[in-house]
Formats: sequence, structure tokens, C-alpha cells
Amino acid sequence: ATALDVERIRKDFPILHTQVHGKPLVYLDNGATTQKPQVVIDAEANYYETYNSNVHRGVHHLSQVATNAYEQARHIVAGFINAAHSHEIIFTKGTTDGINLVANAMSRRFLKPGDSVIISAMEHHSNIVPWQIACEDTGATLKVIPINELGELQMDAFEALLDDSVKIVAVTYVSNTMGTINPVEDIIKLAHARNIPVLLDAAQAIQHISIDVQALKPDFLAFSGHKIYGPTGTGVLYGTTEWLNKLPPYQGGGDMIKTVTFAKTTYNELPYKFEAGTPNIAGAIALGTAIEYLQQVGLDKIQQWEEELLAYALQELRTIEGIRFIGDAAHRSGAISFLVHNIHPFDMGELLDQQGIAVRTGHHCTEPLMDQFQIPGTVRASLSFYNTKEEVDKLVAGIKRATSMLL
Ligand code: PMP
Repeated sequence: ATALDVERIRKDFPILHTQVHGKPLVYLDNGATTQKPQVVIDAEANYYETYNSNVHRGVHHLSQVATNAYEQARHIVAGFINAAHSHEIIFTKGTTDGINLVANAMSRRFLKPGDSVIISAMEHHSNIVPWQIACEDTGATLKVIPINELGELQMDAFEALLDDSVKIVAVTYVSNTMGTINPVEDIIKLAHARNIPVLLDAAQAIQHISIDVQALKPDFLAFSGHKIYGPTGTGVLYGTTEWLNKLPPYQGGGDMIKTVTFAKTTYNELPYKFEAGTPNIAGAIALGTAIEYLQQVGLDKIQQWEEELLAYALQELRTIEGIRFIGDAAHRSGAISFLVHNIHPFDMGELLDQQGIAVRTGHHCTEPLMDQFQIPGTVRASLSFYNTKEEVDKLVAGIKRATSMLL
């Protein structure tokens, strides 16, 4: 395969040609959210301009066009992760929403005192707090897989935690703070050997690593549309038919019912059972467009370029005097967290911003991880396939300039 033509790709993203503080934007905050190609912006506008209508309700023409487009988007997502059925794709507001759905439904049907839930030390708050709530509500216990100083899961400790009390394992595929790629194949095999379901938080994996759910076999997988070049307020929860049928509904309302009487309501079939109320129709359709865009560019090319760019960034950042990486796993993707000397991440972030360079600073919604490293936060640069080596060079030069001003 020929290499990715990054300069041509960049033309697809209008925001990449804007300026910040009079400097060309260098956008290295892709872990927080990704920029949108013009086709995605157009897909959203096109819905409102030409066929805005509610789904699954009307017999009228526009409603049918909207319903078809919405269901087509579900079909695109299913194909993208190789789900066995489109009804295994639930449209959500994002990763947080998908995890809350599973944690809430699990807690009402499957958790009781004495049970436990396993997460890891590197989870985003959105894969910690819903499980804490579930445990508080049911008397179950939250157990945490520890990590080593490189930011890698300690798999021996994970195996030791797996006993008959465990009702679900919920871990991130890729760390949003450190970029660690976790051995999710092994995690799933070990859990399944004990009939324990696994939820993968794929918020930071789906845009970097091609995922085949039938090969990988997670029971649940959640991701956000806005981190994969789609709109905000969109997301996907994949679940196996078996598990989605076992779980009770999350929210009640229109669309999720079959019949309603005051005596008893029966629930709709999958996926509608989990899609109460009018969904983000335009958003889901535009998410489908984002995925088609990625498929056209070619996931293999994207992955190849991102790996090359990450290796280059790590190599160049290592030349900075006084830099310390937070997490330095052998297998990684996307994000690089670091500190330079004793400079506060916020000060570094501000001076980079003045140079047009967007990075994220702070705890990245992983406060327990910051506690483990005994730091208040990090500077995080997170890469996309539309980033260039020149942008990495600007980051490195920007850090050196900021360091000379702050030390
Ligand atoms: N998990 C991970 C690993 C994330 O990086 C994020 C977003 N930073 C989330 C969950 C939450 O995603 P969202 O805010 O889109 O629901």
C-alpha cells in the first residue's frame, strides 16, 4: 500500500488551516477531541437542510428518509467493528453514556453484596465513577488492577483478582493519559475462562487500532463519536446479543417500548430497547459519514502513519533536557504525557498555546493515576493521522522555548 498523503488529508479539515494567536494552529489535543473533515460537517448540515424529521415514527416521506439514513449509520458502525448484527450497535451520547448504561443495568440485575467489579489503575473517571455508583448501590466491591512504573497493567495481579466474586471486568483498551495499549486479548481470554464478561472502553483505541469484535470477543465496547472525527454528543455501545438481551433497559421513554399500559409495559427489541427518546439523529448519521471517510482513507495507512509519527515524536521529545515521560509503555498509541524539570504543566501549556500549539494539561480525568505517580498533572500531546513531523518539530521547539522562559 502507498503511504498516507498527509498534505492532501489536511485539506479535508477546514480548522487545520486556521490561526491561533496569529500562529498556524498546531492541534495536538486529539485525545480530547478530534477535528472534523468537511464531509462530516456537510452530512450534519445536509440532514437539517434537506430531510430533518424524526425517526421510526412517521409514515411520511421525510421521516422515512431520516430513518433509513439513521439505520444506515448503524449498519456502517456494525461493519466498521465487524459486529455480527446491526442490533448490537446502540447509539449513545458518548463513551460515558455507554459505560453508565452497562454499569446501571448490571447493578440492577447482576450485582449484590459480596460480588466485585474489576477496573484498572489507569481508567478515565468515566470508567471508574459509574462502577463506584454501582458498587455503592449494591454492596459490591471495586477492585483495581495495578500498573507498573511504565504505565503497564500488571497481568499477574489481574489473574490473582479473578475469582468467582467478579461479575464484570471493565478496562480501557488504550490509556488516554499515557497511550498504553493494554493486552485486551489476554484480559478477555482470562475473564471468559471464568465466564466473566468484559467491557472495553475503546474511547482512545477506536480511532487508532482496527477492532474486530467477533475476533476480539469483548462483551461490551464503548466509544465516542467525537474522538473518531464525528460530531460531539454521539457514541456507540456495542454489546453481544446475548448480553444486551440479558440487561434490563437503562432509560424509559418513547421508542424503547413495545406496548405501554399503566399496569405493565413491554420493551422493544434490540437495539431500540436501549434508545429511549429522540436520538441525536444528525449526529449518528454524520458519525457514519466519519467512519466511511476513515475507511476511504484506509485504516491500515492511518495506523502506519500514526505509528511512524509517534515513534518520531518520542525520539524528538527525548532530546529535551529535563523531560520525564509519565508512562513509557512498550506498546503505545496516541497520547504522550510528560513533565519538564519542575515546570507546572499549566505554565507549559499556556506558553505552548501562545505559539499556536494546542496540548492538554492537567489530570486528564485520571486523578487516581496522577496520585500513583505523585504528580498534579501532565502535559499531554495526542496525535492524529493529520498531524505532521513538522508539527512535532514545532512542539519540541516550543517546549524548549517555553522551558528557557520558565526555568
Ligand atoms: N474513556 C477514555 C479512555 C477517554 O479518553 C474518554 C474521553 N477523554 C472517555 C472515556 C469519556 O469520553 P466522553 O467524554 O466522550 O464520554
